[in-house]
Amino acid sequence: MSKDPSTLLLEHHLKALKLPTVLRDYLSVAASCSLERDSYPQYLLRLLERELLDRERRSMERRLKEAQFPTTKTIESFDFAAQPSLNEALVRELLRGDYIGKKENVLLVGNPGTGKTHVASALGYAACTQGRRVRFFTTTGLVTQLLEQREARSLQRFLRQLERQDLLILDELGYVPFVKAGAELLFDVVGRAYERTSLLLTTNLPFEQWTEVMGSERLTGAMLDRLTHRVHILEANGPSYRLQDAKARLKRR
Ligand code: ADP
Ligand code: MG
Repeated sequence: MSKDPSTLLLEHHLKALKLPTVLRDYLSVAASCSLERDSYPQYLLRLLERELLDRERRSMERRLKEAQFPTTKTIESFDFAAQPSLNEALVRELLRGDYIGKKENVLLVGNPGTGKTHVASALGYAACTQGRRVRFFTTTGLVTQLLEQREARSLQRFLRQLERQDLLILDELGYVPFVKAGAELLFDVVGRAYERTSLLLTTNLPFEQWTEVMGSERLTGAMLDRLTHRVHILEANGPSYRLQDAKARLKRR
């Protein structure tokens, strides 16, 4: 049976208004509403609630995809008891995400294997669920991309893309020194983010050693100045979780 003109028109309008869930469900919800003897406004409400829920779910999925987390880690799978040196109260406060609204930064400092990447990802995940735009990079990965984008003459576009984020995660400022141009570009990102985009940086290096990675004392000073102006510092200095985990498994055998 071909559809009558008013059905065709209705479906056209729902598409034009981008209401895919209403389009999908308007008949089935109508059937259940008429069984329940719901009023017209109740019918409309039930349909629009579905549309809204679907829309929120879709945009959350999109944000998570765009964030490019290496793996999905949330705070539920983090064992604070295994890392007592980490300030749990502060982590939980940061999970609420107010720091992003205030354009404050987070520094996560600690030995390898203490869960820095896990906690950084969990904070990023939480931010995504709160409607924030997040991008996760390893610091070396970002520096490589910056150099490549510059080579391809698309650096400005890439930087503008970064500026549109609410939270940039720079995971693992490590021991490997950057080439001079790379360090300068990284500083550029930090400088542009200042008071505009929150940065979350993880590192196993104490501040004194940053110069070795950045190559220049002046650049390091200027970068630290901007990073730490409004910053929450989390330290994880317990034993490596990987090591503990491996030992525990060996013991069980
Ligand atoms: P880091 O970045 O500090 O080197 P990671 O976050 O990569 O450490 O942690 C190494 C592995 O151990 C990851 O798989 C992580 O999920 C896990 N891990 C670390 N600490 C904890 C913890 N306290 N509770 C649960 N898993 C943890
Ligand atoms: Mg890490």
